[in-house]
Amino acid sequence: AALIAVLFRMGEMATANQSLDEDTFTLLGAELGYDVQILSPEDEDREILEAFDIDLEAEDEAEDDKDLVARPPVVTVMGHVDHGKTKLLDAIRSTHVIDTEHGGITQHIGAYQVHLDYEGQDRAITFIDTPGHEAFTQMRARGADVTDIAVLVVAADDGVMPQTIEAVNHAQAAGVKIIVAVNKIDVDGANPEKIRGQLTEYGIVTEEYGGDTMFVDISAKLRTGIDDLLEAILYTADADLDLRANPNRDARGVAIEAKLDQGRGAVVTALVQTGTLRIGDSLVVGTAHGRVRAMFDDGGGAVEEAEPSRPVQILGMSTVPAAGDSFLVAPDDRTARQIADKREAAQRAATLAKRRKRISLENLNDALKQGTVQTLNLIIKGDASGSVEALESSLLELEVGDEVALQIIHRGVGAITQNDVNLATVDNAIIIGFNVRPAERVQEIADREGVDMKFYSVIYSAIEDVEAALKGMLKPIF
Ligand code: GDP
Repeated sequence: AALIAVLFRMGEMATANQSLDEDTFTLLGAELGYDVQILSPEDEDREILEAFDIDLEAEDEAEDDKDLVARPPVVTVMGHVDHGKTKLLDAIRSTHVIDTEHGGITQHIGAYQVHLDYEGQDRAITFIDTPGHEAFTQMRARGADVTDIAVLVVAADDGVMPQTIEAVNHAQAAGVKIIVAVNKIDVDGANPEKIRGQLTEYGIVTEEYGGDTMFVDISAKLRTGIDDLLEAILYTADADLDLRANPNRDARGVAIEAKLDQGRGAVVTALVQTGTLRIGDSLVVGTAHGRVRAMFDDGGGAVEEAEPSRPVQILGMSTVPAAGDSFLVAPDDRTARQIADKREAAQRAATLAKRRKRISLENLNDALKQGTVQTLNLIIKGDASGSVEALESSLLELEVGDEVALQIIHRGVGAITQNDVNLATVDNAIIIGFNVRPAERVQEIADREGVDMKFYSVIYSAIEDVEAALKGMLKPIF
């Protein structure tokens, strides 16, 4: 209320939940005798760490080339549903995971590492074993790019499908190298050549046609071609990617999975990206902190030290962090706790601010006027493909004027999913549901992230609202 009064005196009629632009903030600050600095969440985190004399960028820059050693590639498996992603991950794991002394009872911890003999050397590859691009998008939405190579699984008896394309889009957007695994070649009528032809349309051209993407024919079921695929991964890593890290420093990396275990407390699967993680290290993972009490691999075996690209389950964190949170080793427990506390406070403030900053049909026109958006990105989900198409084409026919472009970045039949919300977060989009609603949990995530969802059962109403929003005529609802 005090700020609104000052703004009023400055001639700016603001309401309590209105967004202001940078200039207004600067003027407001000057009026009150403060210097205003606008921080992105990354800037803010950098400042939090700097207060503890931690400067990650400076550390990276100071890294000496001669201290870097090769690290294993980190691979994500993506593709259309039922094309064999899970089966492939199982096949790779059961043929190549090193037996542990613990009877080899493998457990799903979110990632595993396999070893193989390649050109006379023992080489490792790390697989993220949550298949599909949902996990991938979710991690990216949190700023974590852990994947070096995406294996795109396409069933030879089915061909390129909608989620195949989605996976390609996600991998390409992230700048991740793609290797195509043409699966189910054991099935009668399987046509691996057809897949090669279909994918050229999407810029994925096999080396056999002069392109630069490796294609490997496999059967996850019969476990044929698995070694060829692993060799293609290592070949690509060696030829196209310079994957190196310094193991002789404090560890940093990303939490791939995290959960609360009844007996063991917070259990976090961490993927080390640089340095070596050791038992006893004081750790901050997002807003969680603690001392590494124990570490396990995916075979349940105890681990003392985890080097770059090595996934390990760690015990000892105070709370459960989010998948995609980055971690770092702090000088001591106290510092770790203080960093976590500061981040938590910053996060709380950001959540409040973010809810107002995200695009919604109500604030669209303001955003257009202020020039903070030039494109209205929409995601359409509906109960039938006919209605989705009808809605899409009517929306695209709208007279939107020169200042704004209207783009349908994703459409589909079925309920609104977490993946839709993730996409909306990444691309600042509004979700339109036609005769469909989200699951309760998905609604919660959308609320938390401030993603605007609108539901309609009459196409005309949807068109009318979008048109009104573009013209700045939609009344905000409070
Ligand atoms: P996902 O949805 O991509 O994870 O697919 P799954 O791994 O669950 O596989 C879907 C179905 O295809 C399952 O019934 C598998 O047994 C089957 N499948 C997977 N790979 C192959 C294969 O190489 N050959 C045959 N014939 N079936 C396979």
